[in-house]
Amino acid sequence: MKLKIHTQILIAIISGVAAGLLLGEKAKHVKIVGDLFIRLLRMIIIPLIMASMVAGVVSIGNIRNLGKIGLRTFVYYMATTLLAVGVGLILVNVLKPGAGVELGMETNVEAVTPSVVSIVTDIVPKNLFKSMAEDKVLSIIFFSLLLGVALSSVGEKAKPLVTLFEALNAVMLRITDWIMRLAPLGVFALMACTIGQMGLAVIKPLAVYMATVVLGLGIHAFITLPILLSVFGRYSPARFIKDMFSAVATAFSTASSAATLPITMDCLEKKAGVSNKIASFVLPLGATVNMDGTALYEAVAAMFIAQAYGIDLTLWQQLVIMLTATLASIGAAAIPGAGLVTMVIVLKAVGLPLEGIGMVLAVDRLLDMCRTSVNVWGDACGAAVVARLEGEELAGNRSCQPKL
Ligand code: ASP
Repeated sequence: MKLKIHTQILIAIISGVAAGLLLGEKAKHVKIVGDLFIRLLRMIIIPLIMASMVAGVVSIGNIRNLGKIGLRTFVYYMATTLLAVGVGLILVNVLKPGAGVELGMETNVEAVTPSVVSIVTDIVPKNLFKSMAEDKVLSIIFFSLLLGVALSSVGEKAKPLVTLFEALNAVMLRITDWIMRLAPLGVFALMACTIGQMGLAVIKPLAVYMATVVLGLGIHAFITLPILLSVFGRYSPARFIKDMFSAVATAFSTASSAATLPITMDCLEKKAGVSNKIASFVLPLGATVNMDGTALYEAVAAMFIAQAYGIDLTLWQQLVIMLTATLASIGAAAIPGAGLVTMVIVLKAVGLPLEGIGMVLAVDRLLDMCRTSVNVWGDACGAAVVARLEGEELAGNRSCQPKL
């Protein structure tokens, strides 16, 4: 009997953790397998985003429809990120993980935080090929949108180019399919390496802090988002979790929303039945700017640092944390550890000591895996909700299920 891909990935996660614990440092020998898997994924991100976005925009047709989808996506992304931060702030105030913590901190984090101005100007590529070479996803999105709209407006004469992008899109999805078959292997290697390198000993002193972040992420992923999915997307959350499991598990093991993007797209289109038109627009944008997990994490970590230093933050300061954590998550690149770096924005905004980052560094990778899973899950839920609001009939829509 052939196991389903998501079952294979689940087995890979569990056996990867076991192998990491058993082998310890020696697990690094399988690192090459994990690295190759991530490279394969990253290899197709840019052509995939470009091809599917251009094809998607052309199929949306006119600019007004595109604007409507864009507005819905924006509202969903902002609202869910703020909800996530809100949950994080409530939990960190109630559980107070930083009270009584006196941890040594010696690390200096080299923080190159993007300024808001540079985030905005970077959207418009100075040189398309340079942006492609540097994986500047927002610039690629901008250019692809423009190209798609232009192709639609030129019409008949641009047909060959439209066909080309549609073909390219189909081919990229086929390659994604192939890479996905390797996912269990890649996931196993990544898990074994991470756990082997880190061990579980680092967790102990920071257990309450980690539990606070994980609980917050859990509430957002299993309560808030499913409610939105059910009410606005009319999609069964249990079914959707099954549909998207491969993507979420890949996010967990790679800790990168960008690397996971091809698999998220594949699951969303093939399993959940969201059209390429919506998926190709909502997902790449989401992977880059919608990071519910990261925003929640940054708010909790900042509060944890404040508590550990015995600094009391007023309600107003906590509101500033809420806003800056949202902005910092938008500015964070979809790669491992990015959230830790943009947290500087949050700490600076309320005058917290930047050295505090050294305190949370030890367990960042584990929490990164968790928050990236929530980031990807949030994007996927968003795409399903927007698709439904656009009148699409999806695989797990309640009206599609057989009546009992
Ligand atoms: N690793 C996260 C992501 O790719 C970003 C972060 O570090 O929070 O979604």
